[in-house]
Amino acid sequence: MPESLYELDSPTYRMAVAQFEEAAECMNLDPNLRERFKVPRRALVVSIPVRMDNGKVKVFQGYRVQHDDSLGPTKGGVRYHLSVTLGEVAALAMWMTWKCALVGLPYGGAKGGVRCDPATLSKNELQRLTRRYTAEILPIIGPEIDVPAPDVGTNAQTMAWMMDTYSMQKGYSVPGVVTGKPIPIGGSLGREEATGRGVVYTILEAMKYLKIDPQKSTAVVQGFGNVGSHAARILADHGIKVIAVSDSKGGIYNPKGLDIAKLYPHYLNNHTFEGFSGCDRITNEELLEQPCTVLVPAALSEVITEKNADRLKCKILAEGANGPTTPNADRILAERGVFIIPDVLANSGGVTVSYFEWVQDLQQYFWKEKEIHEKLFDIITSAFQRVLSLSQKKKVGMRLAAQMHGIEKIAQAHLARGLYP
Ligand code: NAD
Repeated sequence: MPESLYELDSPTYRMAVAQFEEAAECMNLDPNLRERFKVPRRALVVSIPVRMDNGKVKVFQGYRVQHDDSLGPTKGGVRYHLSVTLGEVAALAMWMTWKCALVGLPYGGAKGGVRCDPATLSKNELQRLTRRYTAEILPIIGPEIDVPAPDVGTNAQTMAWMMDTYSMQKGYSVPGVVTGKPIPIGGSLGREEATGRGVVYTILEAMKYLKIDPQKSTAVVQGFGNVGSHAARILADHGIKVIAVSDSKGGIYNPKGLDIAKLYPHYLNNHTFEGFSGCDRITNEELLEQPCTVLVPAALSEVITEKNADRLKCKILAEGANGPTTPNADRILAERGVFIIPDVLANSGGVTVSYFEWVQDLQQYFWKEKEIHEKLFDIITSAFQRVLSLSQKKKVGMRLAAQMHGIEKIAQAHLARGLYP
């Protein structure tokens, strides 16, 4: 049995803990809380036997980790990717705790994942995998317990299967068990694009603060999935010239600007940049190093490291992805004066509209799209301003300020509730 199946320690988990330790030190956090917050409250490891289309049974490993639930139910996405380990899921769950607290949502942090390559599975295999994974984690999820959502490799269809499996076990429909669902079964307007939209709102706030004119700015986006494609589309809508985008196979580049209004439907229909004209090919490594006003990593973690941080040529780094920058790279970027909008702030639009979806499901009363965009704008821009003013007051970077802000809220909740028993 490979050791990593049950091993919390991993590079991503170490990175999340290192960031937490730095913030805890800076805010002089109670040592008892420091010990508590470094480890998740609960972690479930499941094996998922799936009958493949060829009749053979294949066993996949799955996880659901709940980091902290002192403010309410836990919340976080489900990732389908070959890199999924317990440590990665636990790191992502910890970041979800700080993120929800930072934007003021009544949630703790969680995350889930299955180690698989969804691109190699048929739709029927994916459905069977999702339903069995849901059945295995069923005892610890629910609208008042833990509410999953989409992440890398999962989407609204995955959430529909999870909602249906949970509901069939309960004997009645429970739309509030997951968010990011299709609209006909209780999904929210504006949820699909919410993370990308939130990334753009934070970029516009940063540009206002740095006195940068969006109309004279350029952007580079790594990853063209849920977060990256909508971020690129909405950046272009705001007059920011998107000069390069990529997916796992590489990217495309045009210094005069890509026609995102044409590229978005092209990619949606073909799932590739192949056949799109008016651009050159570029590797993911080259893409990160293009001169631009704003760089948006929106794929996987640890892509900006000490090896390439000194070659980045952006003024603003807006982290659409979770954990794209390692602590060593962070220090290099700080010395170079790059303004960082950290993941817990930049990509918080997704969980914010997920919260709206959950509220609408529980009330069974649905809001208009305009209302969702306005409420998202209010929440995310005020979180940005709170982080910015804390970073100025404490003379620390935006990442440290964002973490300190989130941790402080969780610390207050723990101190108020006391230690059980
Ligand atoms: P997705 O699966 O929809 O898209 C991922 C994209 O990254 C795809 O375009 C894929 O081709 C690309 N990619 C994969 N490996 C790559 C590589 N090695 N180099 C370059 N590109 C690569 O996933 P998503 O939901 O857009 O999530 C992307 C990131 O945003 C993740 O870090 C996720 O945790 C984070 N995030 C997502 C949400 C959400 O609502 N979906 C919310 C907050 C944060």
